[in-house]
Amino acid sequence: MGREADEQIGMTMGIYENEALEQYVSDLGEAMAATSERPDLPWSFRIVDDDTVNAFALPGGFIYFTRGILAHFNSDAELAAVIGHEIGHVTARHGTNRLSRMQITRAGIGLAMVLEPELQRFAPLAGIGMQLLFLSFSRDDEHESDRLGVRYMTNLGYDPHAMIDVMETLRRVSEAARPTRLPEWLATHPHPENRSEEILRYIEEETDETDHAEWRSPERDGYLRRIDGIVYGPDPRQGYTRNGTFHHPELRFTIVFPQQWRVVNQRQAVIAVSPERDASVQLTISDETSIEAAARQLYDLEQVEGPGIRRTRINGLSAGVGDFTVRSEQGLISGTAAFIEYGERIYQLLGYSAAEAWQHYQQQVDSSVQSFSRLTDSRAVEVEPLRIDIVRVDRAMTLRQLYDDYYGAAGPVPLPEIALVNQMDPEDQITAGTSIKMVRGSLP
Ligand SMILES: [Zn+2]
Repeated sequence: MGREADEQIGMTMGIYENEALEQYVSDLGEAMAATSERPDLPWSFRIVDDDTVNAFALPGGFIYFTRGILAHFNSDAELAAVIGHEIGHVTARHGTNRLSRMQITRAGIGLAMVLEPELQRFAPLAGIGMQLLFLSFSRDDEHESDRLGVRYMTNLGYDPHAMIDVMETLRRVSEAARPTRLPEWLATHPHPENRSEEILRYIEEETDETDHAEWRSPERDGYLRRIDGIVYGPDPRQGYTRNGTFHHPELRFTIVFPQQWRVVNQRQAVIAVSPERDASVQLTISDETSIEAAARQLYDLEQVEGPGIRRTRINGLSAGVGDFTVRSEQGLISGTAAFIEYGERIYQLLGYSAAEAWQHYQQQVDSSVQSFSRLTDSRAVEVEPLRIDIVRVDRAMTLRQLYDDYYGAAGPVPLPEIALVNQMDPEDQITAGTSIKMVRGSLP
């Protein structure tokens, strides 16, 4: 089951392509896992292309780190702390009984959301299927993983106190999370209450004086070098919204979602949800190669009724548009479907709401569907993501001074965020010769 979920994570979140960094994380993970109670599992440690701050484990030894969490560590020991914690969830066999629920998501994101009330409930959250798929842990599980993490860190000679720094960073990240956003680490590792005291107790119990003498000092510069240049924040190449229009530079299309709707951009779907969360427009790519075949896939479903599509053009592109209704467990759903041929792909747009609300939403949904268009503006096509930039400070100064020197006027991310990724406060003094994370680039 873990293997199947592993494939799904690759598809929905995407693997972050950085061979050297993945090798580094994987080597450290393998080394720690080899000292665990289950050294013979086929352990795998991967980086997912996601800017959220999270790490998670699947049964069977599949462990993932987001590029977002890697950007927040400040030493190899902090990475080791989270690796150890995740290995702990696996070796202690936490939560494996929940994974069978992933079968719910097997139908894919697109239509499954219409048809499965359970998925529809999750639609407004980033990571639709993921919410179900991640292991979810009890308070005791979290403590047990902390303790095991301390043990595995110590096995490799790391000072386990780094785990306390990581907990502090995760706490700050959760606190700073914009209100519209889930604090991701908490979604998969609940119970954020101050664990530092407990961790100190585990360190006491799991280690002795001889260990302390042998702890190696955390490698800060070495770690920072490895994350120098990694993508930071949302990657606009995977889609971004500007002036109310969603742009996808890689696939070269734009679409205008209804105003005030929340847009969730995922690898396999872009989903807009009404403020009341009772209507949605979702864009996916069909695995069929013709408009007719893609439409058949929809209308052939047992729960779907409708007259089928009529051929038309949307902003010059060949398209088929039709109405449909779905009998779901939640009642009757009404919607519009459009299948648009563009760049060797069939784009599939579904807009829908409960039948009784459809009259209210139909016009907004239809104009959104009709707004699908080629992206031709070369500046919009050529956007680049922000990247971590490791700078060596040549004279003593505060972080605020460094920020002002580095960016001149305004940086792409605010000072408090730079402070957070460096585990500092803006007024903290930096001594000459210290490496600091900045973020270079500009957002579209
Ligand atoms: Zn955990």
